[in-house]
Amino acid sequence: QIQKMRTPSKINLFLRVAGRRSNGYHELETLFYPLSEPADEVSLGFDPAQTETKFILESEQGACAVPATPDNLCIRALNMFCSAASLPATPHTVTLKKNIPVAAGMGGGSSDAAAVLRLLKNLYPDAAVDLPVIAKKLGADVPFFLHPVPSVATGIGEKLTVLEDLPERLPILIAAPQFPISAKWAYQHWDRRWNQENLTLAELLCALRKCDFEKAAAFLRNDLEYAARKKFPLLDMIADEFKKTGACRVMMTGSGPTLFAMYGSFSLRDAAAGKLEAAGLHLKLIKP
Ligand code: ATP
Repeated sequence: QIQKMRTPSKINLFLRVAGRRSNGYHELETLFYPLSEPADEVSLGFDPAQTETKFILESEQGACAVPATPDNLCIRALNMFCSAASLPATPHTVTLKKNIPVAAGMGGGSSDAAAVLRLLKNLYPDAAVDLPVIAKKLGADVPFFLHPVPSVATGIGEKLTVLEDLPERLPILIAAPQFPISAKWAYQHWDRRWNQENLTLAELLCALRKCDFEKAAAFLRNDLEYAARKKFPLLDMIADEFKKTGACRVMMTGSGPTLFAMYGSFSLRDAAAGKLEAAGLHLKLIKP
């Protein structure tokens, strides 16, 4: 008995850091936008005769990039669900096909964890578990991936408001540099002085709803970007390449280092993708 689920990635079109709590967590106002590409695939197998939980990882990103059991978020999600539902975890096998760049600000681990919770809920529809509560314990971005539609998140990222009226696709290109940034590092280096307070979520949403992508690009915001760009000059170099192809604006997603470029239209975006591919830059370029 095996069930499969594709797990989307996300970008943050807006990320305002409002302040730091005494427990080290940060108060945010962020706009999560799910992407069906890049995505991972999670499958859940059940064999009552099995005496040990199994985790199978299929990844081309190097085995060390994604932790194996028991630290993998998939297995942590499985264990938490089973303990809340008073079920044994041992009969389950989780298989993860990893495509989403790791520690890249695209929420891959959170999305995998949420997929495991959803698959378990399908397998045990009567289990008396509160998925959002378990999701929040696994990580601030996990609740969003339980229902991955464009959403504004506040609190530490867990208080969600679904937005029904945003475009289904965006004229963006994504470049994932092949190095990680830990979310911990990104938040530790946040400094209120670099906050882009002139850019408001209300104005971004207004432009997105009108599909005015040129205007929307002007209101993209990420308060974690400054520190990352200062430490990793490669990010400025990638942004320059995007700008040469007519990108209205280039922004980092989440805790980085992945960058996305927004173009004024889909045809401009497609032309830019062609030029960047022809230039043969050593970049993992994603056209969602
Ligand atoms: P976010 O955008 O939610 O802050 P991220 O995209 O920057 O997250 P992830 O790829 O989710 O980062 O990984 C963060 C860390 O979690 C990794 O450094 C890795 O060690 C650990 N991890 C645990 N399980 C997974 C998983 N299934 N996939 C990826 N990383 C995982």
